[in-house]
Amino acid sequence: MVDCLFCKIRDGAIPARLIFEDDQAIAFHDLHPQAPLHLLVVPRRHIATLNELALEDEALVGHLHRVAAQLAREAGHAEAGYRTLFNCNRGAGQTVWHLHLHLLAGRDLTWPPG
Ligand code: AMP
Ligand code: ZN
Repeated sequence: MVDCLFCKIRDGAIPARLIFEDDQAIAFHDLHPQAPLHLLVVPRRHIATLNELALEDEALVGHLHRVAAQLAREAGHAEAGYRTLFNCNRGAGQTVWHLHLHLLAGRDLTWPPG
C-alpha cells in the first residue's frame, strides 16, 4: 500500500471539500487555490503520474476531462474559459503522486504558465 494523500481523501480519512464523485473519480477544491475556482479531478484508482498510464486507462483520462468540463460548466465558466492540466513529476511542479487533473477558472489565465 502506498502512503498517498489523495487515496486518503478518497477513503474519507482526510477531509476535503468534495464537489463530485462517481464510480471512477472524485473532485474536490484545491487546498491552496491558484484561481477563484481551482478543483482537482482525481481517479479513484491510484496512478502515480501520467508516465504510469496504461492503454486501458485511456477512457479514464477522457472521463476526467469530461468531469472537469461538466464542473466548469456548472460553475458558470464554460463560455469565459478555463484551464485543465496535469503536472508530471518534479520538473513540472508535481507534489502529490496520485494523478490529478487541475481545473482552474475565474480569472485571466496567462500563457505560457510559469
Ligand atoms: P501538483 O502540484 O500538481 O501535484 O498538485 C497538488 C495539489 O494538491 C496542489 O495544488 C496542492 O495545493 C493540493 N493539495 C495539497 N494538499 C491538499 C489537500 N489536503 N486537499 C486539497 N488539495 C491539496
Ligand atoms: Zn493514491
